[in-house]
Amino acid sequence: MIAEFMLHRTKADQVVPVYNDFIKKFPDVYSLARAEPEEVLSVTRHLGLHWRGKHFIESANYIVNKLNGIFPEDYDELRKIPGVGEYIAGAIVTVCLNKAAPVVDSNIARFINRYWGLNLKGEIRRKKEIVNIAGELFRGENPGEILFSMVDFTSLLCKPRTPLCEQCPLKSMCSFLTK
Ligand code: SF4
Repeated sequence: MIAEFMLHRTKADQVVPVYNDFIKKFPDVYSLARAEPEEVLSVTRHLGLHWRGKHFIESANYIVNKLNGIFPEDYDELRKIPGVGEYIAGAIVTVCLNKAAPVVDSNIARFINRYWGLNLKGEIRRKKEIVNIAGELFRGENPGEILFSMVDFTSLLCKPRTPLCEQCPLKSMCSFLTK
């Protein structure tokens, strides 16, 4: 959850050192719940987007006060934690709990839109067709691995502007090339 808060609109290589410092300074949910906002900001300020700083303490307080310090293992319960939206809840369920959940960010939505030839336009991430296919995609044995594969695949091959279709192992089945 902390990593996903930090990764919002921020590259992973920027997040890694900050995440490591953060976990050293706040090694459990109780130390984070007791923290002053300035203490959190002193670790996270290099990431910018200071508004998200409040998620860290609010989420820890919610877990300590409402859930007796026990992190939920259920998508709907995760969604109730302040700052945890659909994507973060889905990512936690698939990666940490290895259970199926529809995880859709703009990269996964773009891949689904192309591969299945949906030809949807605009803000497609929340469209029913995309969410339904994502639900099926993550229903396999290792949803966490599928999510990591999708992250790599969409950043290396199925890129936003110039997909590298010639090098893609899925090219013979992809609707993007046959339309
Ligand atoms: S063939 Fe091209 S559009 Fe289709 S999945 Fe591969 S990279 Fe993406």
